[in-house]
Amino acid sequence: MKNIIFIGPPGAGKGTQAQIAVERTGLVHVSTGDLFRAALKQGTELGLKAKGYMDAGELVPDTLVIDMLLERLDKPDITTGVIFDGFPRTLEQAHTLDTTLAARSSQIDSVVLFKVDDDVLLKRISGRISSKVTGMVYNKYFDPPRDAEGNDISDSDEFVQRADDSEETVRNRLKVYHTQTEPLIDYYNERGVLHTINGEQAMEQVTSDLLQVLDELMA
Ligand code: AMP
Repeated sequence: MKNIIFIGPPGAGKGTQAQIAVERTGLVHVSTGDLFRAALKQGTELGLKAKGYMDAGELVPDTLVIDMLLERLDKPDITTGVIFDGFPRTLEQAHTLDTTLAARSSQIDSVVLFKVDDDVLLKRISGRISSKVTGMVYNKYFDPPRDAEGNDISDSDEFVQRADDSEETVRNRLKVYHTQTEPLIDYYNERGVLHTINGEQAMEQVTSDLLQVLDELMA
């Protein structure tokens, strides 16, 4: 059983890299953000409670996140270990995770930090749009959708932005990351499990650095 945490500011590429890491390691991807979005889609009480915090770029209160996570960890597919994506985000969540894993004779084996500066993130996230028709994700600054003649069609009705990807919300999500989540970096560094990856590199290079860490861990 191996457990890995992906830490990084919003837009650092954790979700994309987590998919690749799952294929490489066979571990199960658990993203608390995805779990909240799924709950909201299903219209559950938890989803509705989380929505206000998510739209404002605030953290959902620890008790709600922790209860949801513990329920997820009780599912039968959690046998080989987990890649935690977007959890823990506070020291309290980190402590709870330690206790929970210890009760299962398990632990956090590795923490991967994706490091990206705020100005890069702001453009990455506030430019993120997706097609209502195909689900494809684009970036209106770096990779705009184009019509057959090559014209930028980012402003067409076909493309929508995630409610929490607006510039104002992104600024708040970054502030929350710096104040509430960054203390976890020291917490895991002191235990000697922290690996830092430069998330500003080209995506392929980020992946290659990540696979090196994962291969060592799984060897
Ligand atoms: P993400 O997709 O990981 O960026 O998460 C989207 C939003 O869900 C965050 O901005 C928070 O409002 C909420 N959220 C996700 N994970 C957590 C967590 N571990 N603790 C508190 N709130 C969370």
